Parts: sequence; structure tokens; C-alpha cells
Amino acid sequence: MRGGRRYRLLRGIVSLLVLRYLAEGEECGYGLRRRISGVLGEALPPGYIYVILKSLRGRGLLDAREGSRNGRRVVYYRITDSGMDFLLRHRGAVEAGRRAIEELTRFLEGRGGESARGDRDRHQTYWRRGARCAVPAGSPGRCAICGRPAAVRVPYANASFCEEHYPQWLERRIRRVTDRYGMFDGVRRVAVAVSGGKDSVSLLHALAGLRDDHGFEVVGIHLDLGIGDYSRASAEAARRNFEMLGVEGRIVDLRARYGFSVPEAVRAVRRPACSTCGVVKRYALEEAAEDAGADALATGHNLDDVAQFVMMGYQSGDLEGLARLRPVIPAGRHYGVRSVKPLFLIYERDLAEYARIRGLPVAGAECPLRDRTSQGFIRRKLLEIEEGMPGFMLRLVQEFADGVQPALAERYLREEDVGTCRICGRPTSKGREICSFCAIRARALGTGTVPGATG
Ligand code: AMP
Ligand code: ZN
Ligand code: ZN
Repeated sequence: MRGGRRYRLLRGIVSLLVLRYLAEGEECGYGLRRRISGVLGEALPPGYIYVILKSLRGRGLLDAREGSRNGRRVVYYRITDSGMDFLLRHRGAVEAGRRAIEELTRFLEGRGGESARGDRDRHQTYWRRGARCAVPAGSPGRCAICGRPAAVRVPYANASFCEEHYPQWLERRIRRVTDRYGMFDGVRRVAVAVSGGKDSVSLLHALAGLRDDHGFEVVGIHLDLGIGDYSRASAEAARRNFEMLGVEGRIVDLRARYGFSVPEAVRAVRRPACSTCGVVKRYALEEAAEDAGADALATGHNLDDVAQFVMMGYQSGDLEGLARLRPVIPAGRHYGVRSVKPLFLIYERDLAEYARIRGLPVAGAECPLRDRTSQGFIRRKLLEIEEGMPGFMLRLVQEFADGVQPALAERYLREEDVGTCRICGRPTSKGREICSFCAIRARALGTGTVPGATG
């Protein structure tokens, strides 16, 4: 909301507040502005209060005297008898206003981020308010849609929801993201990569709910990475969700399909476990999506994941990597399936609440191979910033996706830079003959090392 309109709306209320403070005793314009700004949770524009004081004075509701403080000339304002009458007569109007504002608040908060643009405007008001933002900490309060006691509070949207309306609200949010970025335009069959964790399980349920609307089919894909009990529990969670929804589910055993498991690959390759696993998963998921006849592959990367990638990319100055980081990667010359991240603007915390409230079966354990890296540190720091500036990560990622990435792509993404893997025919990065997956596989199978191919 632009300042002008906002303050026109508030004008009557601020006038009454002026009289209310003056009813306690005389006060200068500066003091009134400070006290009223405190109540509103944001600084009134300078000058605004003087316009109101002048008008109240013109109506005889207050008068003024000149005094001095610390050698400076100051005007003190005082309420008159008719000012006092005026204030008391407004009791009924204030009560009616309170009810009207409650009703409006319920409606507007229910639309917490109705459009991506809307979100952005909301968050800009948070910036201006700075630390004094209007997000009350602590209890969830009442549902923004039905007014019943709320179960979840969503700080960046400054809204709360009950157990019934929270899942609906989140699903609508996801739907808006997929629509806005055209993720499923022209798509007939979506492969959802389900790890068994809360993000991808929530994604599966949300997309299953869009099947009829969008007219696409959903097929779930789970990769069994062969990481002991961890993988067994993950596969079990994935399977239970496929059954629950009645969606076709495919469980791909990495070892059966490619001859090696993730732990074997990690032992054979000198690079961080998560990075090796990431290459293997990406490759296997794309292939599985193709095998399943899908035209889109959806993964559960959430806002926190993407915010972390963005920060890490900035830190290392990896402009090509940043240029490749986008919510929709179109099908290409080497690979016929579009890749989408429908949750890239959804906070991890919101997904955890969704899975909890809907009672979805998820595998909670952390991967035992996960390496301790700077990633966790950056993530924690981002959450700290978020706490002080609700909506920070959303803005970071949204601005990146809408502004920064397209600019980088123009400069750094060239189709002709992509090579073709000599072994499997899939894409390789510039100057490489063999793709990272084939290089890892060669090492894991002990069929030799490929010079210059692995990191
Ligand atoms: P991660 O790389 O573990 O952060 O996972 C990112 C996304 O990749 C998840 O949300 C899933 O969509 C997908 N994914 C990760 N692990 C698996 C798996 N074992 N099987 C299927 N999809 C997975
Ligand atoms: Zn409700
Ligand atoms: Zn290859």
C-alpha cells in the first residue's frame, strides 16, 4: 500500500488518538507523533501529525500555547472542553470501527500472499517498519479464515490458521506458484520425486490434489539409495504415501539398476558425500521420470534449500551455477522431461506443519552420510535473519528467480556450451567428455578412473 492511501484511511483514528493523549495533559507535536507511531507500529510520516493538529485546532477541539524547552521554541497542545466531548461521543463509533477492522483483517490475512506481487508489497511494509514490524511473536491467535482458535502461525504472512484451513491455505499457495511459473502447462504426466521426507511427501499430496484441476496424472518415484536402515525407512514412507493416495509408485533400486549404491560411490570418489549423492540422484531421477513416460519431474526443494543455494552461489561467485538455478528447467536436447520445483517459494517450516497437521507418514531420520559443512551454518544464519525480518528468505529467492537469474542466464547459459557424454549420451559440462554420473559410476564399479572427469 502506498503511504498516501494508508494515511488517508487512518486519519480519523489518528485524530482521535491525538485527543486521547491530550486528554491526559498537554503535549508537543513531536511527543504525539512518537506515541502514536508506537501504537501503530510504524513511524508516521513527518508533517502528517501537524496537518491533523491544525485541523483539530481549526475545529476548536484543541488549543495551543507556545513554550520553550532547552532554549528551543516548542508548541504545546491542549484539549478543549468541546474536544473532550467530541472524544467521548465517539465511543460507539470506535467500537463499530473495531469490529469492522477485525472483519477486514480476517479477510486480508486469509489472503496472506494472494499473489506473488502481493507478497512482495506486504514485505516491503515490513522493511519500512524494521524491527517494529507488526508480527506479534508467540501464540497463534485465531484462524484468519474462520476465526476459530488457530493451530499454526505463519509469521511472514502475519496470519494464523486452524487445522482445517491451514492445509487448504498452503495448497492454494503452492497452486499459485505452479500457475505463475507455468510449471505444468501442457503437462500430461508428472513424476514426483519422493524421498520419504516431509517436503517431497507434502509435494506428492499437494500435486495429487491438483490432478483433476490440471488434468495430469501423477506417478511417484522413489530411489532406494542403499543406505542401510535409513533407506529402508525412507522407502517404506514413500510406499505408504503412494498407497494412501492411490497413485502409481515406482521404487528404483540404485544397485539393481546401475550396479552400485550411494555408500559405494561415496567411498570410491574423493569428494563430499552429499555432492556425489546429489549427482547420482539427479541422474537416476531424470532417467526414472523418462522411463515412467512423464513429461515433468517435480522435486521437493523448498524455499530454505533454494535460499541456501543462492547464498552459497553468491559466496563462491559461481555465476554459471546461479544461472542454472531456476524453478522450471525446460526439456532440452539431451533430456525430454521438464524439471520443476513447485515448493521453491514455500518455507520448510510451513511444509513440516503441513505434514504434521495432515498426519502424513514421513521418514524423519537424517541421512547418516551427511557431511558437516558450511551449508548448515549458512542455513541457520538465514533462519536467524528470517526471525528478525519475516519474509526475508521469500524475497531473497523471489527476487533471484524473477530478476537475477534471468539476467545471469542471458549472459552465462549457452546451449552450445553443453557437451554430450561419450558413455551415456547425456549432457556434460563445458569441455568434459564424460558426465559426472558416468565418472562416479566408473569409480564405484572399479572399471577404472576417467581422467579429468570427476571433481
Ligand atoms: P535433497 O537433495 O535430499 O535435499 O532432496 C531434494 C529433493 O530431491 C527431494 O525433495 C526429493 O524430491 C528428491 N529426492 C531426494 N532423495 C530422493 C530419493 N531417495 N528418492 C526420490 N527422490 C528423492
Ligand atoms: Zn479456520
Ligand atoms: Zn554419462
